[in-house]
Amino acid sequence: MSKKPRRKKIKAHRKPKIARDRSWKKRILEGEIDDIDELDLPETERILPPSREEERVNVRRKVDDEIRSAAQEPAQEGTESALEHCQPGTVTRISTSIYHVDLGEETLLCSVRGTLSASYSGYTNVVAVGDRVLVSREGTESGVIEQVGPRQTVLARPDPFNDDLSQVVVANVDQLLIVVAWEPALMWLELIDRYLIAAAEGNLTPIICLNKVDLASRLRTCKKVMSIYERLGYTVLYTSAVTGRGMRRLRNQLVNRSTVLAGLSGVGKSSLLNVIQPNLELRIADVSEDSGQGRHTTTQVSLLRLDRGGYVVDTPGIRELGLITTHRPELVLHFPEIAALVDQCRFNDCTHIHEPGCAVIEAVDREEIPWSRYESYQSIYESLPEYYTE
Ligand code: GDP
Ligand code: ZN
Repeated sequence: MSKKPRRKKIKAHRKPKIARDRSWKKRILEGEIDDIDELDLPETERILPPSREEERVNVRRKVDDEIRSAAQEPAQEGTESALEHCQPGTVTRISTSIYHVDLGEETLLCSVRGTLSASYSGYTNVVAVGDRVLVSREGTESGVIEQVGPRQTVLARPDPFNDDLSQVVVANVDQLLIVVAWEPALMWLELIDRYLIAAAEGNLTPIICLNKVDLASRLRTCKKVMSIYERLGYTVLYTSAVTGRGMRRLRNQLVNRSTVLAGLSGVGKSSLLNVIQPNLELRIADVSEDSGQGRHTTTQVSLLRLDRGGYVVDTPGIRELGLITTHRPELVLHFPEIAALVDQCRFNDCTHIHEPGCAVIEAVDREEIPWSRYESYQSIYESLPEYYTE
């Protein structure tokens, strides 16, 4: 007998999102605007939807060129360009208003030119970790950030002090490495599904990494479980930080890119990074005794440079990434196997949760849609707020 989809209890009512002017984002998504340059956007606000990967790459090239040429262009004769002596770099860490800027060969400790302003960007911080910047030197080890390049991607969270604004956690990350482990307590497929949505929302390429495959009696069993994701076109890596299996492939995925690692505590994120590069200075892990939740005591983010190029993002505040800001009716777009069937549902406004004649529920009953994916859909749907003020 086939399993009947159960209606789940509503787990959480989150506060409706606060109205914020995101109309330009919607206009891009709806194809109303083709060229982002048409928009009179603050430079820091250029983000493209995941479906426009090619453009994303072009924007990135353009940004790199802009930054490079601003740094290299000789000043016109007789005029003093303010950016003439600037060098391009990447902000790797921010600690109490000191910005660590990686120039490639060296790191400068910088302040921010007072004229740079975050106003109108929708974000509280004018400079974030991951930003590509131009700095002018002041002495041998210090400098001033004179200009911030447009952000290609942004991972943000609501600002704790201002409901209307977001705080950039980290900018310009390319990919999200979703780490799970082959252990009953750590194989939480709904978390993978949530992170996949968060990656799409943040414009990051997701990669799923199943670690601790040494604990499985046969790799084939792991592959069978993960085939759900391979069939959907996602890259799945099978690794063991203990035996070294899959490490070369993982290393190749990280080189020359900037990657955020996400996953429950204990899945092996630090162990994997230690194998990739033993000298990475991961933040000292302090187990918080009362909650037992996080091993990190701070919510600061830093970029760790890989010897072979690229960065990994050491971000203790990663749990925020599990928060999804999509609206209920759009959720289905993040589940292509469900979206493919919605035309066949009896009702136009079918939510695929309980309606009679729902093609999705029927496909789950016939086991054509994996139960775990449908369960994630239900659970995420019910955790999203019903109404928005936007
Ligand atoms: P993190 O919290 O995600 O950074 O996880 P850690 O790297 O601290 O690893 C948690 C525990 O899992 C440690 O005891 C590791 O030794 C162990 N571990 C990590 N990777 C593997 C693996 O591939 N196989 C096995 N069997 N254990 C692992
Ligand atoms: Zn339906």
